[in-house]
Amino acid sequence: MSFKDNNEVRVRFAPSPTGFLHVGGLRTALFNYLFARKNSGKFILRIEDTDRKRYIPGAMENLTSTLKILGLHYDEGPDVGGNYGPYIQSERTELYRKFAKKLVNSGNAYYCFCSAERLKNLREEQRKSKLDPMYDGKCRNLSKDEIEEKLRLNIPFVIRLKFPKEGKTIFYDKIREKVEVENSLVDDQVLIKSDGFPTYHLANVVDDHLMKITHIIRGEEWLSSVPKHFFLYKSFGWEIPKLVHLPLLLNPDRSKLSKRQGDVAVENYLEKGYLPEALINFIALLGWHAPDDREIYSLKELEQAFSLKRINKSNAVFDIEKLNWMNGWYLRKLDINYIAEKAKPFFEKSGIDISDSKKYLMVIQNARVRVSSLSEIIEYSKMFYKDLDFTDEDRELINEENSQKIYSYLIDKLKGQESWSNDDINSLIKKAIGELGIKGKNFYFPVRLALFGKCHGPDLPAIIEILGREETIKRLKILINK
Ligand code: GLU
Repeated sequence: MSFKDNNEVRVRFAPSPTGFLHVGGLRTALFNYLFARKNSGKFILRIEDTDRKRYIPGAMENLTSTLKILGLHYDEGPDVGGNYGPYIQSERTELYRKFAKKLVNSGNAYYCFCSAERLKNLREEQRKSKLDPMYDGKCRNLSKDEIEEKLRLNIPFVIRLKFPKEGKTIFYDKIREKVEVENSLVDDQVLIKSDGFPTYHLANVVDDHLMKITHIIRGEEWLSSVPKHFFLYKSFGWEIPKLVHLPLLLNPDRSKLSKRQGDVAVENYLEKGYLPEALINFIALLGWHAPDDREIYSLKELEQAFSLKRINKSNAVFDIEKLNWMNGWYLRKLDINYIAEKAKPFFEKSGIDISDSKKYLMVIQNARVRVSSLSEIIEYSKMFYKDLDFTDEDRELINEENSQKIYSYLIDKLKGQESWSNDDINSLIKKAIGELGIKGKNFYFPVRLALFGKCHGPDLPAIIEILGREETIKRLKILINK
């Protein structure tokens, strides 16, 4: 059986559910998704949860919902089904044991009865002699009788790959091109652990084959596993999918992207108010470049533009400044109603009542041109909703004769102002400046302070327009000294 049976491209994202979706994981998911869409193929989600020690309840649900929020809908997967399920490895363990047995029978894997203690001592000795930790092959050539005897005695065992000790493994990767590895450097990998669960290597290879995966697109950290996988494919007589190992993601100081230097959980970026559109666009450019070096791409446009040929060989730096810039760009450019909807939870969390929807839209419009994330919108908006607090210094300015004069003038004129359009309020302000003979910051600072709580901020007409007649006059009136 070969994936060339029909020419459909089938790719998978195969995360281990160990807590959250890492930005590197998102990049892998995105590139797989884009490649599938570009080639009218299938994008599959497979959960690799056979390492029970690292299992975290709820992690899978978290992962699937994050992928959906970002618009990376999969064609097959745990909660959507498909013809090649189950898509959760812990539900397939019987299958892996069956394939491991096949390998034992064909002489490409073997039972290993070494105790955990022996292995620990072995590693310890190797460490002391500055050797790479590796199994020494003690059980590689046990006789049939010896094996049967140990099985009869119920001695715990694992199944190991009988990796050739001589020669080289040579394989091709679309990005790394020809890769050669000395076989003597490759360990006899455990395939089935003593708890009967498979390791990543066996389960991954078996599933990629059974799920008819045509291209394996994943992070470069998996490149070193390829010789073992290569041998597994060969032993089973299966064709190996095409390999595409993506360049590493780095911190700005060029160390490997890690939690220590900032957030790596995609959920945290969403919580902080980064838009899915911006995250997708930003992540797409980590290791891939557009034909025209354009920076702004929607998911739909990426689906058209993506190609494996444009994946860079060099590692990609995660530049948060660029993400901030992009997020700001999307905040300004996307439909105002969409941004308003996305910002709602942030207002709700801050206890701000946004039931006046006309005012709310104006507030959003005002804020979105000034911020780079949804959470920052609150900083620029709360003054429109809550009573203002003034410092002693603010009070000094408020009580100045000039300020008081402006406040009284404005109260009077705004009362009679019929149109509340930005333009008409702007004319009213111009007129006020002329008639009062107070200009520049001497005019703007006390008024902005009275209405917005700060001397600096949005244009005055915008503030007055958002607050509305009643609230504007109320804010001015309470500052008038009797
Ligand atoms: N389960 C592996 C991971 O957590 C999958 C690696 C692969 O794609 O083969 O990333």
